[in-house]
Formats: sequence, C-alpha cells, structure tokens
Amino acid sequence: MPPIFQTMLSPLTRRTAVKASSLGFLTLPFAKSAKAAVKPAQRLAIIGGGIGGVASAYFAGPEWSIDLFESRDRLGGHADTIQVNVEGESCPVDVGADFFAPQSHPLYWAFLEHVGIRTPDNAKTDLTIQTKSSLNIFSKNDGDSLFNSINTLSHPIHAVSFLRFTQEAREWISGDAPYSVSMGEWIDNLILPQTFKDNVLTPWLSSLSCSKVIDVRRQSARSHLRVVAKNFPKNPLAPIITYHAKIGLGGYIQFLQNRCENLSVKLNAAVSRLEEVNGQWFVTTSSGRDGPYDAVVVNAPPHVSKNFFSSIPWASELASLLGRQEYFPARVVVHTDPVYMPLDRKTWASQNVEVDSQFGESSHDVGSFYESVTTKKLSLFKSWASHRNNESKKILMTRDFVHPLSTPESLDAIKSLRDWQGRAGLYFSGHFTAVTDLHETALFSALETARRISPDSKNVLAFEQLIADQGLDSIDYNVP
Ligand SMILES: Cc1cc2nc3c(=O)[nH]c(=O)nc-3n(C[C@H](O)[C@H](O)[C@H](O)COP(=O)(O)OP(=O)(O)OC[C@H]3O[C@@H](n4cnc5c(N)ncnc54)[C@H](O)[C@@H]3O)c2cc1C
Repeated sequence: MPPIFQTMLSPLTRRTAVKASSLGFLTLPFAKSAKAAVKPAQRLAIIGGGIGGVASAYFAGPEWSIDLFESRDRLGGHADTIQVNVEGESCPVDVGADFFAPQSHPLYWAFLEHVGIRTPDNAKTDLTIQTKSSLNIFSKNDGDSLFNSINTLSHPIHAVSFLRFTQEAREWISGDAPYSVSMGEWIDNLILPQTFKDNVLTPWLSSLSCSKVIDVRRQSARSHLRVVAKNFPKNPLAPIITYHAKIGLGGYIQFLQNRCENLSVKLNAAVSRLEEVNGQWFVTTSSGRDGPYDAVVVNAPPHVSKNFFSSIPWASELASLLGRQEYFPARVVVHTDPVYMPLDRKTWASQNVEVDSQFGESSHDVGSFYESVTTKKLSLFKSWASHRNNESKKILMTRDFVHPLSTPESLDAIKSLRDWQGRAGLYFSGHFTAVTDLHETALFSALETARRISPDSKNVLAFEQLIADQGLDSIDYNVP
C-alpha cells in the first residue's frame, strides 16, 4: 500500500465512529448493554465473529456466559468496514458486504429495527441510507457500453432482454423450483438472444460474486439468483432501491456487540482445534486451551472449520462433509481513481461491470452511496480485481476474500449438515448452513441456533414476536 494512504484509512473503531459522529456525519447511539449482575453458569464458545456468530451471541446471551473467538483483530468477518479520509471527508467503506433491502433481507431488515439501528420514526437516529441502484455493463475489450439501466434506450434490444430476464428470475425464486438446477441449465433454457446471454447476462451474473463464467454456470440457479432477484421491481421500469449502512455493516456489528450480554470477545484468537471430553468442550488457540464449555457454535467457514475436528473420532464424517462445500478466492480493492469505471462519466452507474466471455467484475461507485451524507460526491470506489488488465494506482485497501460457490453439490452438503446440529452440544451458524450467502441467511442461521440452545431467551422471544407481527415468522432458509 502506498505510504500516503496508510494514514488515510483505519478499521471502523468505536473511536473513529464517535469522531465521525461528532463531525455531524453519524449519530451513533452506542448504548451500554445491561450487564447481568451474575453471569449464567452455562458456558458457550462461539468460533468466528461474523454476523452469524455475533447474532448468535446476541440471541443466546441472556442465558449463557459466552466466549467468542475471532481470528482477526476485529469482529465482522465479511462485514468489514474501514474508515477512509478522502477529499477532506471521513467516510466508511464496506470492503465486503455492503447492501441490504427489505425485499431481499426481510429478517435482517426487521432485526435492524429490533436492535435500534433502523428507527423508522426518527430519521436523525436511523443508521440506514436509501440508495437507487443502477447498473452499467460494458465490454472489457473496447469499453463499449452493452446495457445501462439509467439509459435503457441506448441499447434497446439488450434492455428488453434484461427486463425479461429480471421477470423470469423473480418468478423462478418465488416458486418452489429445485435447487438442483444449475445456473448454466437455467440460462440455456431462457428464450433470449444467445449473444445477450453470452456477452451480457452470464458475465454479469458471474460478477455478483466475482466467480469465473464457467463457475457461475455450475452454481445452483435458485441459490445464486436469490442474492439479487428479490430486489427486481415488479414494474420493470421502476428503480431498484437498496440500502447501505451509515456506519458500515462492520459498524452494525459493533452496535450489536454493544447490545450483547455476558459476552467476552477474544480477538486474534484463531481456533485450531476442538476437543470433546465427556460432553464438555475445549477450544485450542495459539494462546492456549480454553474450557470447559457446555456447547460450541462454529461460525467459522467450513473450509477452515473442517480442520477443527481431527482429534474427535466421531466427527471424521463431519469434517469430510464440511470439506464438500466449495469456495473460491476473490480480491477486492478500495481505491480513489476511477480506473475500472467507463471512460464516459455520463454512463456511470452505482455498479459498473466490465465483462468478457470469461469474467465479469464490478466497480461500485461508493461515493454515490454516501452522497446524501457527505457534503460532496467523493471519488471513492470498491472494485473486484482478481482478473483486471491493470492495477489501480490509488489503492486504499486490498482484501482477499474466500467466497462460497453454491453448487447443487455444496447445497447437498449444507442440507446434510443439519443432521449434525446439536450433536453433543455442537452447533453451526453462518452463511454455510443456508440456501445462499447473504446477511439475511447468516442472521437466520443465528436465530435457528438460538432457538435450539436458548428457546426462552428474552432476545429470541422478543425478535420472534416482532417477526410474527410482521408476518415473517414462516421464513425458512434451510435447504429443503
Ligand atoms: C465481497 C463480499 C461481498 C458481499 N456482499 C454482500 C452484500 O452486499 N449483502 C449481503 O447481504 N451479503 C453480502 N455478502 C455475503 C455476506 O457477507 C455473508 O453472508 C455474511 O457476512 C456471512 O456471515 P457469517 O457470519 O456466516 O461469516 P463470516 O462473515 O465469514 O464470519 C466468519 C468469521 O469467522 C472467523 N474465523 C475464520 N477462521 C477462524 C478461526 N480459525 N478461529 C476463529 N475465527 C475464525 C472469520 O475471521 C470471520 O470473522 C458478501 C460477501 C463477500 C465476501
């Protein structure tokens, strides 16, 4: 990283968030959680501090004394927010997950209200930002625009095809289509021009997770389309509305941490091994061995956690089941030069996707997300950059992610993981237990875990009441 930028960014710590708040940018009610006078006797270890792990701690907290082990130096996992200073403005950037919406994230949306992040009756304290999503797909070879949702008339044939695709996708995920149909099979069956499918649609779909075109074709269509298709409006000409976090999704995790009871967080504590001794659990990190615990929730992803069980004879089948979930690497850079944006600024959209026959990679115009809270539109971008022709010269931060590839085979392994839930006090929460990879499903998994280990917890009961009132209580993201 160029030294000049090292001082320009920092993880979103409570201090930076409060400082931003004092500048009038954020209003962050870091309320102190009510600490129980006497800690509960039963002890729970949670491994991995993503939304799945922290929400598990929140839901179970009133009834358990919890140690949360996180390998990084901060909580959040794929909700990873850094605070950057650009053009005299301080702005949070979500390096990983960044968007949510009531259609695609109904439980998460309700949860944000439940914990006080979303305050529909008070705009001043509400920590969400509404944004109009727009899409520009352009050729990697010559930069020519192929589809632009802001100006659909510029490419009328592709626009009509895209609109037809959105309606087909909405229909597919709202029925009970089988998860076994691959994206490739689904695309091949669409009655749309082949050039549109090959040059626009498939590489754009691959850009949603930065997988290769050959890999996106192997994904489960229902699982992959679920990430975006709920947000396609019924009226194809209506704008797509999504939401971002004023304090970043990592800021939301800190907020949630402050709402947790009986929680002790251990950072830089990468777990290497779990042991089960007469129904009690021990957790090994580089700092030593902790325990005993009455139960363990594993929220670390399966490509890591499959190695935790080597000393547990009864769990060898479990380890190989975890190893059956497929993952692939993807690199994201946060930068200030518009190196991956189309040359013609008039065509810029919130998402700008460079495509060729093998890949699609998106560059998000982050400055546009925060335009309503910064005093000017910042030159600030977040781009997937695993296969780019050139490198940005003004990189603020790089992060290498490991993404799940939800093939029908992976989903089969996810389904089988259910049989292991609760065995000898061992539980799994996180995106890798559900039909697709979203904050929505990771939150659902935490609720499911807490329903098993703490069904009478006041936080579980209160949230269940809220979702019942909103008619959301039948939502189920388990693989059928
Ligand atoms: C680049 C990117 C963009 C995304 N965009 C969106 C989006 O816009 N909207 C959306 O809803 N979803 C999005 N997602 C998906 C979303 O981020 C995930 O569904 C969600 O964050 C998963 O939460 P989790 O708790 O299951 O896992 P994670 O967030 O991966 O948490 C797992 C945690 O385990 C920790 N860990 C790993 N190994 C160990 C170990 N040995 N010991 C202790 N801890 C360990 C990790 O450091 C991590 O903190 C995106 C994902 C990525 C990668």
